[in-house]
Amino acid sequence: LGRHKDDQRPTSFNYNGVHFGQDNLHVFAGLCAVDTPEHVEIMMRTLAEHGQVCTRMGAYKPRTSPYSFQGHGKTCLPYVFELAGKYGIKVIAMEITHESHVDEIHDALHATGNPTGVMLQIGTRNTQNFELLKAVGRQRELPVLLKRGFGITLEESLNAAEYLASEGNSKVIFALRGMKTNMGDPHRNFVDFSHVPVVKRLTRMPVCVDPSHSVGTRDASPDGLLDVMHVTAQGIVAGANMVLADFHPHPTKALVDGPQALQLNELSWFLDDVQIAREAY
Ligand code: PEP
Repeated sequence: LGRHKDDQRPTSFNYNGVHFGQDNLHVFAGLCAVDTPEHVEIMMRTLAEHGQVCTRMGAYKPRTSPYSFQGHGKTCLPYVFELAGKYGIKVIAMEITHESHVDEIHDALHATGNPTGVMLQIGTRNTQNFELLKAVGRQRELPVLLKRGFGITLEESLNAAEYLASEGNSKVIFALRGMKTNMGDPHRNFVDFSHVPVVKRLTRMPVCVDPSHSVGTRDASPDGLLDVMHVTAQGIVAGANMVLADFHPHPTKALVDGPQALQLNELSWFLDDVQIAREAY
């Protein structure tokens, strides 16, 4: 993925009409976890009203506790894909936690007539799940969003990306989502967006930032600006090519990570900030 000068594998790509590379920026605002068809529809309609063609939607949720909501899995895929088609959403970032989910997604896309596309997300807990990486690398059709492992070195996470590429899939976007430290961080994770230019220097992969999972709260500075917005701007000014952001029509009713979700009436503000930060880059 560009780590060696003789590596010519392309790392920018077009998928379902959307171009991904180190030279542009896409926002993937959406639900951390799919809960109801109504919320999916409200989210997608709002995105369409704001000219957005990408989103994030979690169907398979890796949870710390086995008693927490685990996601609706394949049962929600038909309505998620149909609604995406209805509102012109072209790419959905969707985490998978097992290789069988790839087939489930393929089958559901096929059954709904492929009105949308899926970027397979590998979460921070699976960054070094080598068998999953190899399986996802073997399928060449769907691009991959690989999250940095939260407790391993950057080098180890970049090697995880090589697992995907070495099996044949170099359509990989590398995501920074914060690190776990034992320093009593004010945020859920220590924000690592200063590594955006480092990853771009070491590789040719587009780089994503995930302010929601990095910050993990709706805390705001005294001027009223949410920390999620601050770090989004920091990531973009550092050169990020993609932003993942949790939104929810009713954050208090969200089944996963409601406390970090932005409200839909904050989407315009968020997108304006993204634009301003991009111009500052
Ligand atoms: C997510 O994006 O829904 C998620 C669980 O992220 P992470 O793997 O970074 O915790």
